[in-house]
Amino acid sequence: MLHRRHFLQLGSLGLSALTFSSFRGRMTAQKPLVLSTWDAGIAANKAAWQILRNGGRALDAVEQGVRVTEASLNCCVGLGANPDRDGYVTLDACIMDENFNCGSVLFLEKIKHPISVARRVMEKTPHVMLAGSGAQQFAVAEGFPLESGELSEDAKRAYQNWLKKSEYKPVINIENSKRQEAFVPTKLENGDWNHDTIGMIALDAKGNLSGSCTTSGMGFKMRGRIGDSPIIGAGLFVDNEVGAAVATGQGEDIIRICGAHTIVELMRQGMDPETACKKAMERLLKVKGIDKAKAIQAGFIAISKSGEYGGYALQKGFNFAVCHADDKNFLVDAKPLI
Ligand code: ASP
Repeated sequence: MLHRRHFLQLGSLGLSALTFSSFRGRMTAQKPLVLSTWDAGIAANKAAWQILRNGGRALDAVEQGVRVTEASLNCCVGLGANPDRDGYVTLDACIMDENFNCGSVLFLEKIKHPISVARRVMEKTPHVMLAGSGAQQFAVAEGFPLESGELSEDAKRAYQNWLKKSEYKPVINIENSKRQEAFVPTKLENGDWNHDTIGMIALDAKGNLSGSCTTSGMGFKMRGRIGDSPIIGAGLFVDNEVGAAVATGQGEDIIRICGAHTIVELMRQGMDPETACKKAMERLLKVKGIDKAKAIQAGFIAISKSGEYGGYALQKGFNFAVCHADDKNFLVDAKPLI
């Protein structure tokens, strides 16, 4: 059926027809392959790729990849992120491997790499989730340094700005709309806007899948608020027989439809990743209602066991980074539902 296959022309990226193809809109890459949410995913994919290109395990790739974003102090993920409305940065993360092993941390403070603590929860405890001071106690016992908790310069400025009105209007940024004045966006060195969560999914050379997700949640959220990102099935789900999916955006609504698990189950029924993400997004829209949905953003990305991949957004502005070769790490604009 080669004559029915058309290879995407990605101009300056010079993507090779042998490794990247689109068949009736279905995007496929040879393994290994890594995807992550938003433009910060380009840097994260680079780190993940170093592991994947050497035959490494998807689990190691998704951990090391998002650590780059967590460590970036001018980013809305990790300790440099915007604080809650009481002025504290609280972090959520989860990780899942090819054998249904999973771990997560919620409401974790003063620890630089929540994703690695989530992995330790998965590997060193009989549990899946640890929260708050218990998660921090576990992290410190595992040798993770306790950081000062001081806000980054960007976060200080954003928080001071927010305090002027102290209006509690938790909204996940919609990239193509004007942000709330208080939600001062931070900038990467290259001038791109940065975002609040990084979700990463990878397929390694052996054909095994894994995923990770790490976030500070919403800027100026109510103290104790947790979104979808550390919740297995909502923010992230991996079934090594079928595929993997990860979410970003308004966590409350992603939880309501068990976003990532729903996408994987739709792929199990035969849908390609983009269609599965779209169907899950349609469910979110139906539950939320069009009027309320217009005020929020959500994005899903997914990989199938065979290396097909795709994503879908509620609104315009969501993109994801795809990497499947040394010189093939690029952004894809997700189609919007609204
Ligand atoms: N999903 C995250 C949350 O609700 C936020 C985000 O993806 O930007 O906590």
